[in-house]
Amino acid sequence: MANNVVIVGGGTAGWMTATYLRAAFGDDVGITLVESKNVPTIGVGEATFSTVRHFFSYLGLAEHEWMPECHASYKLAIRFENWRAEGHHFYHPFERPRNVQGFSLADWWLHTRPGEQFDRDTSLLAALCEAKSSPRHLDGAMFTSGFGATDEPAKAAEDGRETQFPYAYHFDAALLARFLTRFGTERGVRHVLDDVLDVVLDDHGDISHVVTREHGALTGDLFIDCTGFRGMLINKALGVPFESFRESLPNDSAVALRVPVNGEKAGMRPCTTATAQDAGWIWTIPLFGRIGTGYVYAGDYCTPEEAERTLREFAGPAADGLAANHIKMRIGRCAQSWVRNCVAIGLSSGFVEPLESTGIFFIHNAVEQLVKHFPGGRDDEHRRRTYNRQVAAVMDGVREFLVLHYYAAARDDNAYWRDAKKRPLPDGLAERIEAWGHQLPDAESVFPRFHGFEPYSYTAMLLGLGGLPVRPPAALSRMDDTAARREFALIRDQAQALAQRLPSQYAYLAHQQNAS
Ligand code: FAD
Repeated sequence: MANNVVIVGGGTAGWMTATYLRAAFGDDVGITLVESKNVPTIGVGEATFSTVRHFFSYLGLAEHEWMPECHASYKLAIRFENWRAEGHHFYHPFERPRNVQGFSLADWWLHTRPGEQFDRDTSLLAALCEAKSSPRHLDGAMFTSGFGATDEPAKAAEDGRETQFPYAYHFDAALLARFLTRFGTERGVRHVLDDVLDVVLDDHGDISHVVTREHGALTGDLFIDCTGFRGMLINKALGVPFESFRESLPNDSAVALRVPVNGEKAGMRPCTTATAQDAGWIWTIPLFGRIGTGYVYAGDYCTPEEAERTLREFAGPAADGLAANHIKMRIGRCAQSWVRNCVAIGLSSGFVEPLESTGIFFIHNAVEQLVKHFPGGRDDEHRRRTYNRQVAAVMDGVREFLVLHYYAAARDDNAYWRDAKKRPLPDGLAERIEAWGHQLPDAESVFPRFHGFEPYSYTAMLLGLGGLPVRPPAALSRMDDTAARREFALIRDQAQALAQRLPSQYAYLAHQQNAS
């Protein structure tokens, strides 16, 4: 039985885990979180995935209660710039293409070519990103026209998988950690500010306690390793091997800046932007009052000094004099994220580069699965096995999706981008790519286990990246395309009307800030 849980680490992973477990079990499970005053958090991790709303709703938090405090903004899509060719951009929106006569509008688009840009011809969200619109009206009502999205949160992301929700959030990671610290401690999480010096195992090899500098031994039944890339409990104390993904995903470094910006003047595009570079890509994350930006690159192709120079040129004079945060990334995952009485959550468990903003999604998924498989004495071995299989599959699936980004990108103007087409593909991906050349991705042809990304995401990337051949289904040439053409026209009209009627994202967030 796990009556007392000790969480080591107070970054996003530690506090998301503490607050979620508290919301799930209340006083029935004691939770202690110990975090170091001396070891900083990673300090990045500001873009999320659309299922993250279930995390906040699980905690009973409405947007107006946490967004202003975390300088949060909306994310409707990822905008990919220069991945296909210099000057080209496309969106990967949180939006499934509509269906017409049993075929996805993506198939119809390939067949009828109603315009030049797949995303803008089939998606409302792409238009809202172009117009820098808010997905909500000033009275808080969400746009729903033609989308079918609902404001009703499901109790957990798993319940909500069927429902497409049109946005995720950006937020300041440090402010979110501060917000969750207060939220958690007010609800009974015991917070210890101290360094963990040692992890002590009992005769069976389970963790019996951790030794802190000032608070002595902290004992528990279940230990959660949220120590980030260090993996202090899972890797160092318990010796669980870390399986690197470097062979297929070579980006292993990042440099980040926090740049103040006047959002009223500049506008705030409601999406993350990923701009391709010579040895990786730069993220741009618009928050209320500043931009988070960083260059994710492969150390084999670019030095930290070159990366910082490139990032500063990209950010412009607003970044002059600001300190840059250089980060070494451990890409891959633990062979098992749960061994004995220790569960690794967050960067200690695994990480793939942040191209599709999946770090926080991994944390959310892990903590949901932990609640579902919470130890109860009997059958714990079975629970551990099922848990490990699920969290590993999520990371493996995302790895495949990310490898596809580089492999399918038309860009091949230097060694970095050319080599991306020659690296060994993870198991099964080559076969899937072959299949997508005949038929756009569907539930049968993408990575077969849940990993957050649906076939439509693969389609958006294939059609946007433009480096791999794709074909419309032969059947469409024998069908009347009137209904599909009507749908394309409808989307165009709806997109125009929405972009005119919705407030700008800046106006909405300023209104939210003033009301809080
Ligand atoms: P950390 O933030 O590193 O926290 C570790 C904690 O452990 C700290 O509190 C530290 O004090 C504590 N600790 C360590 N050692 C000890 C000790 N001995 N005693 C006591 N305490 C200790 N994810 C996204 O979802 N979206 C993104 O856009 C995104 N961008 C990213 C960009 C980069 C470059 C990187 C590297 C990651 C990004 N991530 C992103 C991932 C995201 O940042 C992490 O998943 C998230 O911040 C969780 O980190 P963590 O809590 O696991 O680790």
